[in-house]
Order: sequence, then structure tokens, then C-alpha cells
Amino acid sequence: MSEFRKDPVTGRWVIIATDRAKRPSDFVRDKVEIRGSGFCPFCYNNESKTPPEIIAYRSGGSAPNTPGWTLRVVPNKFPALQIEGSLNRQGEGLYDKMEGIGAHEVIIETPDHSKTMATLSPREIEDVLWAFRDRIVDLKKDRRFKYILIFKNHGEAAGASLEHTHSQLIALPVVPKRVLEEIEGSKEYYRFKDRCIFCDIIQQETDSGVRMIAENGSFVAVAPFAPRFPFELWILPKAHQSAFEESKTHEYADLATMTKDMLMRLDQVLERPAYNYVIHTSPLRESSNDYYHWHMEVMPKLTKVAGFEWGTGFYINPTPPEESAKFLREAAVAVTAH
Ligand SMILES: [Zn+2]
Ligand SMILES: [Zn+2]
Ligand SMILES: [Zn+2]
Repeated sequence: MSEFRKDPVTGRWVIIATDRAKRPSDFVRDKVEIRGSGFCPFCYNNESKTPPEIIAYRSGGSAPNTPGWTLRVVPNKFPALQIEGSLNRQGEGLYDKMEGIGAHEVIIETPDHSKTMATLSPREIEDVLWAFRDRIVDLKKDRRFKYILIFKNHGEAAGASLEHTHSQLIALPVVPKRVLEEIEGSKEYYRFKDRCIFCDIIQQETDSGVRMIAENGSFVAVAPFAPRFPFELWILPKAHQSAFEESKTHEYADLATMTKDMLMRLDQVLERPAYNYVIHTSPLRESSNDYYHWHMEVMPKLTKVAGFEWGTGFYINPTPPEESAKFLREAAVAVTAH
């Protein structure tokens, strides 16, 4: 038997195969290996090969765009969107269009080419999270932007074109549809119950435990009830918070530990899979609210999206989240401070 499940936030249906459930070893794919061969624009001494840095974390007073940094944020050399100009909203008959204005930045997480996010120290990951926050706070001042998405492509199969570990940020003049679906679903639930749906999900998952993966002082990691992809997991702050950039200092530290912990578990259980993560936070002009709850979604790249998914928006997931949560929960990893 298989089962239809509905995501309580977006209303999106998925099909979960409960009988021929795929175990980690059933997924055939390439491990992500860091080869380190060839020229890399994100390594030391190649700073001039990226556009000039927007911010960098440096110790010891080294000059901008020279070695000595521990983290660097630069504009994407091949941006999907341009920062300069006005939106120039226009109609073309019944169609709408505007200029491709936006910010597209790259967060180079470490100078060390051999590292991945899973092998960075919690302290280094925390710096990456602070960089996300610093860039959001800065770009928020630009009234043209309505949404900032932070994401990572890890491994070629997940869309990474450079293997040196990095995340990306895109500031958009519109709120993306995926996010709108979550916002609208959350508002609807709030109107109805006067509670945040994500706070309720955290409560229920904590009580039942079947889809719970791990918990620390400020965060939980769960396999969602209706995941689109096998081994999909969400990391959520336990205390209600609608905007990522408004998190408290200790929360960035706890998120760093939780992120490392989850990526180490994925590496162990799925043998270094390609993956994507995204941070879903509130739109910039409604960032403090009671109905939306920011979170991080992590999606290992184990299956391909095919015709049925494209045609319906339903996803077929061959691993029930209760099983994936169990595999990840039982993985033996130890996150140390350094
Ligand atoms: Zn490199
Ligand atoms: Zn909440
Ligand atoms: Zn989301």
C-alpha cells in the first residue's frame, strides 16, 4: 500500500510508499567527493577572480580582497539578477513584466577547499549564519526587495557548479510562490486557531517522537509528516520567531550545532549525498508576525523529479518520514566544539 499525505501548512499532497520503503542503501548515486583539482576562484590568492568582496571576516587586519579572511561574501560573478536599476513594472496586454533587479551573492564559508559544511567547526558554521544575518539586515534597507532567500547547493547533482563550499543569497522584488503558499497557509491556520502552525507542529512532533530526529537548547530537527523527498528534514527554532535575522545570539550558536549535527548524520546514513538547503523566513515587509515561523529545509538529492511530479505538483516519496527519522536518529555522530 501507499498513502496520500497532506502537508498541513501548504496543503500540498505527497504520495508516500509505505510498503516497498527504500532504505538508505537502496538509493543508487554518486558520493560527493572534494577533488580539489583545477583552478578555484574561492581559494586564497584568487580573490581578484571574484567581484570585490561585500563583507569579509578577517583576523589580523589583512586588506580587503587579499588572503587572511575566514569568510567572504562576494557578488555572484554570473548573477541571475542585477543590483543596479529600477524595476520598471510594465504590462504587455494582460501580461506583467519588470526588469531583472535583485541581489545575488555568494557566501564563501571557509578558505579551506577540502572542507564541507558538515566538516566545518560549529564556530565556523556560526560565522556563516552571522554572515547570512548581516547581509539580510543590510539588504532589507533596499525598498525594492520583498524577499531574501538563502540556499545551498552541495554536490553537482544538487546544482553546485564549484565544489569549494559556499551558500548563496538572492534578494527578490517579489515574494516567491513556494513561500507565499506557506505564508498563506500559516495565516489561515492562525485566523482559525490563534496559534502558529509551526509551533503546533513542534509541540506534536515532540510529544509523539516518531518523526523527531534531534533536539538541542533552541532547535528541533524533524522529518516532516508529508515530505516531498526521502530523508527531507526541517530544522525549526523552538521559540516562536518569524524572521531568521531576528534570532538571538545564542540561537545562532545552537543552530550551528544543529546544522552540523544534521549534515553529519546525512553524510553517515546516506554516504555523503548531494543536498540542498533553504532558509524560509518571513517576507521583508512583514518580518515580525505571530503566524509564520522561520525554518531551514534540508533536502538530500536521492531521487529525480519526473513527469508525474511536474504534471501534478504531487511528489512521490519512497521513504516514509518515520523510517528516515529513525535512521537519522540512530546515526552515531558526535558534534564537538572544534
Ligand atoms: Zn577552493
Ligand atoms: Zn511559531
Ligand atoms: Zn518552508
